[in-house]
Amino acid sequence: MPDHVATSNRSHADALPVLRQRGQHEVFCGLTGIMWLHRKIQDAFFLVIGSRTCAHLLQSAAGVMIFAEPRFATAILEEGDLAGLADANDEIDRVVARLLARRPEIRTLFLVGSCPSEVIKLDLSRAAERLSKSHGPSVRFVSYSGSGLETTFTQGEDACLASLLRGATPASPRAPSSLLVVGTLADPVEDGFRRSFDALGIPVQFFPPRRAWELPEVGPQTRYLLAQPFLAETGAALDRLGAQRLPAAFPFGAEGTRSWLAAAASAFEVPRARFEEVVGPAERRAQAALAKIRTALEGKRVFLFPDSQLEIPLARFLHRELGMELLEVGTPYLQREHLAAELAMLPASVVLSEGQDVERQLDRCRAARPDLVVCGLGLANPLEVEGITTKWSIELVFTPVHGFEHAADLANLFSRPLLRRGRLAV
Ligand code: SF4
Repeated sequence: MPDHVATSNRSHADALPVLRQRGQHEVFCGLTGIMWLHRKIQDAFFLVIGSRTCAHLLQSAAGVMIFAEPRFATAILEEGDLAGLADANDEIDRVVARLLARRPEIRTLFLVGSCPSEVIKLDLSRAAERLSKSHGPSVRFVSYSGSGLETTFTQGEDACLASLLRGATPASPRAPSSLLVVGTLADPVEDGFRRSFDALGIPVQFFPPRRAWELPEVGPQTRYLLAQPFLAETGAALDRLGAQRLPAAFPFGAEGTRSWLAAAASAFEVPRARFEEVVGPAERRAQAALAKIRTALEGKRVFLFPDSQLEIPLARFLHRELGMELLEVGTPYLQREHLAAELAMLPASVVLSEGQDVERQLDRCRAARPDLVVCGLGLANPLEVEGITTKWSIELVFTPVHGFEHAADLANLFSRPLLRRGRLAV
């Protein structure tokens, strides 16, 4: 399919040309999100209705996380199940009954769809309804799809959060204004943000909650800030509930974190002096820490393959706060609405690409001779063999990288591979 360059002249962000490609692409599916979601939502269990391939994916992803609690499993659809839906439903019922007898602490059970369950058109939302009748109300059943040869690994979180919102209680239109921070954050990051919002006098809740039963009430008085750029479906669900999104850059790096906190401060009319008093010291500490790492990254050329959907905020951070040169910034999907503040901060010369034709993108990457490539696991090893330094994008969702306190940790994720390569070259 020919490359397509789309431009418009509405604004700098809208005018950035985008290279759109469709072809073979290298991504993990949405089941991967279970790895961080199960750690966040501590009373939930994720039961994947899938194949041995799905079980292997979960096992290999969990292998990276040695502290993982076993709050996920795969109910494997055997060949016989693929032929008969009744058998598959009976098998799900049996597996769930056994699981709940053994793990009475489970309060929310996610039935997670996969490619095989979708191929046989297994309706997991009906399965969830049926199971709610037999095991509710002490256990809530929620279904979502983690499948996908056409999805990215972060979309699993989006589908999971959107499914949870189906059980949210609508807030009264007369409820006081409150802030909802949306997107999975490591607990220490969440605690740090909570302290900042408390100091600013902004009533805040985080979604997903640590306990799935503690769902927020959402209504027209809810203002929400996205903490992750890959939550299109969740954002749409919140919009339907009447909540209002606060446009901002994402809280990566000192600059992004200031923009993000400032959006909330402005919506809740926090006096400017108070905002500076709360935010200024932490921002200056982050800037000082970043200045030390900048020397390792300044002037280095980075190529970002589309994988995590974090690429555009990261590119902004790497370019503006660490002085890196952006060769190409790929993203699986360009969600312009949620990324408007980020796009406005990218240089006008940036090459943005959406989607992937992996062989052609690899050709562009090799021709550009980058100092650092940010990509998925599937591309990293072959590129390393060719002498190109890489950073696995999946680490960006497994590592606490949000906020002032973690700005240097985020920068170090990019400087370390370059320093390691430098040492090996000596
Ligand atoms: S891509 Fe499909 S079959 Fe493969 S692990 Fe993911 S859900 Fe399972």
